[in-house]
Amino acid sequence: MGFEYVFLVVLCGIATGAIGRAKGGSFFIWFLIGSVLPLIGLVAVILYRNEITEPERQCPTCGKILKLYVQVCPRCGTDLYLPDPDETRMPPG
Ligand SMILES: [Zn+2]
Repeated sequence: MGFEYVFLVVLCGIATGAIGRAKGGSFFIWFLIGSVLPLIGLVAVILYRNEITEPERQCPTCGKILKLYVQVCPRCGTDLYLPDPDETRMPPG
């Protein structure tokens, strides 16, 4: 218990936070989880992926990428309906 332990915890926190952020979560929250529960947090963030993944589609008017559940485009105000399957895509990563 000493510097090495603290270093390992911080390293796990950063790794967990970075993965969480890459998956659309909060770096800070995942950093805390990864620091408090070093290896468990890291496993959790790796498994976290599919549960937050939402289909996306593109606004036909301004081209902004929006989640499928968004009904009015926040950029241009276009009313959006359920699009053709061809126009939806899963977010990368
Ligand atoms: Zn729009």
